[in-house]
Amino acid sequence: MTKITILPDILCNQIAAGEVVERPAAVVKELMENSIDAGGGKITLTLVQGGRKEIRVADDGSGMSPDDALLALERHATSKIRAIEDLQSIRSLGFRGEALPSIAAVSRFEMVTREAESLSGVAIRLEGGVLKNVRETGCSAGTAVTVRDLFYNIPARRKFLRSVDNELSHISDQVMRLALACPDVHFRVVHQDRQLYDFPQVKDRTERAGQVLGPGISSKLQPFSAETQHYRIHGLMSTPDVQRPGAGHLFSYVNGRAVWDRLLNRAILSSYETVIARGKYPVVVLFVEIPPALVDVNVHPTKREIRFRNPGEIMEAVRETLRRTLEGSVMPGKVIDLGSFIQAQRERTFPGHPFTRETQIPIGAGFGPLSRTTRDVVPAETVTLPGSAAEGLSPDGVPKTEEGLQRQTESSLVPGAQPAFSRLPYLGQLAESYLLLEAQDGLIIIDQHAAHERIIYDRLSSVSSKEPSQRLVKSVVVELLPREAAKLRRWLGTLQNLGLEVEPFGGDAFVVHSVPAILDGCSPEALLRDLLEGASEDERAPQWSLPYEVAKTAACHRAIRANQRLLGDEVRYLLETLDQTQIAATCPHGRPLWFKLTHDEIARLFHRT
Ligand code: ADP
Ligand code: MG
Repeated sequence: MTKITILPDILCNQIAAGEVVERPAAVVKELMENSIDAGGGKITLTLVQGGRKEIRVADDGSGMSPDDALLALERHATSKIRAIEDLQSIRSLGFRGEALPSIAAVSRFEMVTREAESLSGVAIRLEGGVLKNVRETGCSAGTAVTVRDLFYNIPARRKFLRSVDNELSHISDQVMRLALACPDVHFRVVHQDRQLYDFPQVKDRTERAGQVLGPGISSKLQPFSAETQHYRIHGLMSTPDVQRPGAGHLFSYVNGRAVWDRLLNRAILSSYETVIARGKYPVVVLFVEIPPALVDVNVHPTKREIRFRNPGEIMEAVRETLRRTLEGSVMPGKVIDLGSFIQAQRERTFPGHPFTRETQIPIGAGFGPLSRTTRDVVPAETVTLPGSAAEGLSPDGVPKTEEGLQRQTESSLVPGAQPAFSRLPYLGQLAESYLLLEAQDGLIIIDQHAAHERIIYDRLSSVSSKEPSQRLVKSVVVELLPREAAKLRRWLGTLQNLGLEVEPFGGDAFVVHSVPAILDGCSPEALLRDLLEGASEDERAPQWSLPYEVAKTAACHRAIRANQRLLGDEVRYLLETLDQTQIAATCPHGRPLWFKLTHDEIARLFHRT
């Protein structure tokens, strides 16, 4: 007797379900994707016990003939592709023909469906993948699938189901991801007779984002778009004052399919790297439209992951588009949280130094939303990327960099816009850490360390041309660990461009010949060691991330410290250079760099209003 047998279909389906049907949210995803593929204009999801007891997805899409409906439940049955080449031009969300039989194999399953032109529909019932009943039935056109008692026949899986709330939050996430991409579909979600969501059809994805993410977040989203010969990148991104604790609000789509792609996420985050604090996340809805032949969607059972033919190019385009959009935005002079400011004032023990480091104004706490006026200045910029026809200025002539800056400084009359610091009267230094300036409408306080960090960072990270370097009088030899040495070897070229000239010196030793001119005077050894410690471990980290890491570490190293008295010249240099930096609202670590206490706010402190 042979030891090897071919598994029966039901068992195959149950095994496939292990991958495709991880939890109720996965069932929701598969069924709703089918409804979207079927051209449904309205999709209603009804749940009992967070989907653990029952999941029902009903649509008004194409429906199926009785024969097709039965076929759809067979393994590898699909209407969406006929040959492997079809994957090259796939536009539907599904194509593997796995979902329905897999779900049916691990639940009590019922599908009721009717094509619009048929007089009656068909109802098919299965239990644990075994066909129990097929009957003709009257029903509305479209398809309704009901999945009860998920994993009832696989106790080991059932045990892994989480609480109702937990499963429900996964389902919400799935629905949000699907809904964001399909503004022309009406989505409704009901949980035990309570309506959770109702997103009627809207005209575009921006309006849909408003429905899905709510007015609080969506009022802080700005549109972006960029095009090259082969692909288009567009979507919505939050202003830097939106800082969320997790990555749950990163929504990426490739050709309308929601994906969770590490590289895309990394590209998104890196564009925010210098304006958002470490460990905080923005809200981004990113759509990448690319010829299907340039992306492989068949690398993951739930199609959540994809593989780009040319990942580097896409990543760079995403990063660049988002970064430019961020730079184009007028940055917060923010609305200060007056409550916490007053609190801080009260807690100060009289008559101590007004602003010691411990009792400084809690800028972070009050780093509130952009004012409406400021936000309205933000243009929906279409960035033209290298490689596309008209390189350079965007079609609507939206100013970038220099010009954009000019525009920012000119708008300094708008409360919240960034003023031209160097043109404001300088009042003096506070606690050897802050520079005080008099603005037309209040008092500006600049964190000198953060400001200088930002200046150095901007200088070093614009690596388009080689940074001038300062030759060391005496070269410095640095001994490294093998792991550090390996890292450094990969970086040598990039470091050289930054003006940091390092050469292998036998074994794991290196010799430093020069440092970037702007960092003249800092210890090359300390700089190098900090760099090696801080920068990304990931070997696959794209090339562009390194200059950023270097610049950030270097900036922190060399920058004017807090508790350092500054001379007139130094103050002038700082303010003038700050006026030329593109994102002068935060330091490279994402901490705020300056804020304004307006006359109104001061008056309120003195109970004059
Ligand atoms: P896939 O979506 O990968 O093709 P599924 O197992 O999810 O595989 O579905 C199998 C087939 O059943 C689909 O190709 C489609 O023809 C049909 N189908 C599934 N759901 C629906 C629906 N809601 N409306 C119309 N047809 C459907
Ligand atoms: Mg499907």
